[in-house]
Amino acid sequence: MKGSSLPPAYALHTAHNRDIKKVPFVELHNQRLQGVVSSGSDIERVYVSFVQAGSLDYSCMTNNNRPCGGLRGSPCNHIHMLVDAALQQYGAQQVAAFLRLPGDPNQWQSAHAILRQSGQPIPSMASDIFSRFLEDLHHLMLEVDRRPLHSMAWFIQAG
Ligand SMILES: [Zn+2]
Repeated sequence: MKGSSLPPAYALHTAHNRDIKKVPFVELHNQRLQGVVSSGSDIERVYVSFVQAGSLDYSCMTNNNRPCGGLRGSPCNHIHMLVDAALQQYGAQQVAAFLRLPGDPNQWQSAHAILRQSGQPIPSMASDIFSRFLEDLHHLMLEVDRRPLHSMAWFIQAG
């Protein structure tokens, strides 16, 4: 088995050189820009974050539904990283349209610009988004003949 190189299907899936080590999963789905962000310090922990279209209300918690300690009245670093990853993957035009940001989409080129408009933190459960991440990985694994994936490391418990 080859070491840590990513299978081709995964490389294709994560277009535009998005850093999947930091943000293994991002999608525009069901009125939410949502995804999974790795913890900077702990390889076994991930954060599940989203920004709601329209209101730009936001949420961030661990995959065990613990609230993110970085949320102190404004979006945390994980949410910034998630929005930046979405901008890289989808482009400012698509992200702005999805989040229903007003005016010229070119003004929404960075997470910083977008999140200056953010709404309120809202409670949520991590499980919906996290299970979509697992599903996504599952499909990719089927595509690449069930070879282990780099990103699996985040939720495989150390034995
Ligand atoms: Zn966070």
